[in-house]
Amino acid sequence: MGQAKQRKTGRLGVREVQCKSALVDSGICDYALNCYTGCAHACSYCYARFMGRFHHPGEPWGGFVDAKVNSPEVLARQLRGRGLSGGGSVFMSSVCDPYQPAEEKFQLTRRCLAMLLEAGFEVHLQTKSALVQRDFDLLAGRKNVSLCETITTMDEDLAGEVEPRAAPPAARLETLRLAKRARIPVKAFVGPVLPGLSDTAESLKTLFSQLAPLKVNEVYVDRLNRRWGVWPSLQKMLRRIAPEALGPTRAMLFDESGSQAYGRALRSTVQRAAKAAGLAAPLNMVF
Ligand code: SF4
Repeated sequence: MGQAKQRKTGRLGVREVQCKSALVDSGICDYALNCYTGCAHACSYCYARFMGRFHHPGEPWGGFVDAKVNSPEVLARQLRGRGLSGGGSVFMSSVCDPYQPAEEKFQLTRRCLAMLLEAGFEVHLQTKSALVQRDFDLLAGRKNVSLCETITTMDEDLAGEVEPRAAPPAARLETLRLAKRARIPVKAFVGPVLPGLSDTAESLKTLFSQLAPLKVNEVYVDRLNRRWGVWPSLQKMLRRIAPEALGPTRAMLFDESGSQAYGRALRSTVQRAAKAAGLAAPLNMVF
């Protein structure tokens, strides 16, 4: 698996559970597939933390992971039952990282991915892990897949604070480089860009300069959005590492005119940084 390393995962317990359905309808692709509930990567800005309300109330996001150990069997049944062979696109994953550390042992994402590809689905993977390199044998040379690595900053210390158990940014870049070499269509998702932390022209230029030589197919950039439970989590992190960013972040999230002005300024900063970095890939600002 190259030189890429995962950060330490600590002693996070993983519970084995049974699921009733694997493929679910999605607004991102036709379907989404999540083989895990919860995510060990524990990003402080994670929008999926609302899942904890239903499955592990009172537990911190990043503190639990349920492995849906029957998801490959349930997926096989769904494919047969719904006559879904070859029908549409699947996003892996919408409310967890499909290649979080538990996947190394359980291989649920791998088994489902193999089944979907065999059935002719288009599959879009998004991760902050290098473990996807394990599955390059399934993905190499295919046109009906894409691999997107999320990279929010090249600052290893900052990434360690906001995405404490995800792979370091350099390992995600290396994964994209190796994927490109394996003829896998690759994308980068830069987001959410964090006010006062990763939204400066310098920070974005550094990141785009690293992406430029990789010749990724597309780059997506997103701002920080208000979602359930995100602000309390961000406040905790910001109080610890960057109290001066609390005010601008609050204004950007809760003040309508401040939010619009921030969006306009960020668009312009992103465009200038991409140009300065010589980023030739199509740039999609999804805000
Ligand atoms: S990797 Fe994605 S799903 Fe996992 S905690 Fe981070 S943002 Fe949430």
